[in-house]
Amino acid sequence: MDRRPHADVAPGVQRLALRTPTLAPATETNSYLVGERDFVLVEPATPYADTQAELFAHIDARVAAGHRFVATLATHHHGDHVGAAEAVVARYGVPLAAHPETARRLHGVVAVTMPCEDGDGRLAAALGMDLAVLHTPGHAPGHLVLHAPADGWTIAGDMVSTLSTIIVDPDDGGDMEAYVTQLRRMAALGPTRLLPAHGDPADDGVALLEAYVRHREGREAKILGAVAAGADTLDAVVERAYDDTPPFVWPIAARSALAHLRRLEARGAVTAFDGDAEQRWKLRETTNP
Ligand SMILES: [Zn+2]
Repeated sequence: MDRRPHADVAPGVQRLALRTPTLAPATETNSYLVGERDFVLVEPATPYADTQAELFAHIDARVAAGHRFVATLATHHHGDHVGAAEAVVARYGVPLAAHPETARRLHGVVAVTMPCEDGDGRLAAALGMDLAVLHTPGHAPGHLVLHAPADGWTIAGDMVSTLSTIIVDPDDGGDMEAYVTQLRRMAALGPTRLLPAHGDPADDGVALLEAYVRHREGREAKILGAVAAGADTLDAVVERAYDDTPPFVWPIAARSALAHLRRLEARGAVTAFDGDAEQRWKLRETTNP
């Protein structure tokens, strides 16, 4: 019996949970085969030869059954999503689909031969499925998700995870305002089933997306409170605003905290200034007319 949860997770969607070098607590990235007959591989993820062999066995079985392998799609540029991209393209000769922002970041790693913008209809046409491609920046500038309106599922990439929260790192193209905006946009589509890149499917997609928005807004309120209480460096802000999390997660939490500080700056709630050795923040002074 297969020890990994490879299974049909939605109409026309197979999940292959495969080992990748990803961030704890995750140890795997879900690759999805989308299509009842002809199919697309979403997340050519694993870089490990033995795990790629497992992925190829699933693809080969579909091809042997007469199903056409149409394309592989990477939701975004992170290494735990594209580790098999080159090998899949070389073995099957399929195009690699991704957003142009992802293509730019993968330059020199692997060539994106099927650039997809928001609303691209080519995969839907090739599969004969009602399938929307959405550009959802925030976690990554070129992030794409796939939404099937008729069946109600969304392949969510790294917009959500059912194992942990999502990092938004401004030094890697992350943008908190865009992230929250796109979470709300995804929720408005009313997905009944979310299929994340990490973790099991979530059956109340709207509730999970709304919980993510609430979590981010709650964290941002704590960060603003920390600045108001005098925390002015990133480390000091994280220590106060993440006092409900263990210190070992703070270095990673600091990436998202920086994204929140930039969002607060853009909203005019805080001001950034150059300290002696590092950037500092303070509440924005209100000017008297
Ligand atoms: Zn990612």
